Amino acid sequence: MNRAVFLDRDGVLNRNIWNPATSAYESPLTPEQFELLPNVIPALTLLRDAGFLLFLVSNQPNYAKGKASISTLDAIHAKLEAALTDSNVQFAAYYYCFHHPTFTGECICRKPLPYFLLRARDTFGVELTQSWMVGDRPSDLQCGRTAGARTVEISDRTASTSGADRIAPDLWSASQIIVSDQVESAASSFRVII
Ligand SMILES: [Mg+2]
Ligand SMILES: [Zn+2]
Repeated sequence: MNRAVFLDRDGVLNRNIWNPATSAYESPLTPEQFELLPNVIPALTLLRDAGFLLFLVSNQPNYAKGKASISTLDAIHAKLEAALTDSNVQFAAYYYCFHHPTFTGECICRKPLPYFLLRARDTFGVELTQSWMVGDRPSDLQCGRTAGARTVEISDRTASTSGADRIAPDLWSASQIIVSDQVESAASSFRVII
């Protein structure tokens, strides 16, 4: 049985980019805009060393919307993978949905649907009830919940508005929550009384 942490990408691993045209923070549209957030590598290392498989689960609808080419999305992914490889962090799989319902119709893989988590369960023997989903949008947390995983919302707020089990300001804090929860449940799973 494997335990896993499923990670949303934008806003969790890397910065969202301010788009003045839409007055919103959005996914990077070029490799140059892709920048890991502080302490992401130590956080991933902590989770890996605690025995979790790591998975990326990311909606990237900008190709479907005509805002980015597949080769640009591939180049952004390559930058992420290179940064992880340089730091000796391995992801078991990267799961991307490139669909968008308005442009490509409904699909089976776009969060909040739990498709990729179920696929990880079937392919890698992941026990979802022992696993976590970390994300910054309600769709991430709903995805994790639907799959039966626990959830951490990345947010500057002090209380989750999307029903996440836990809330943390960044991935470093989230990984400490996940690892210490693991230690607590291990400690409570046996007693020696003499
Ligand atoms: Mg996000
Ligand atoms: Zn999809």
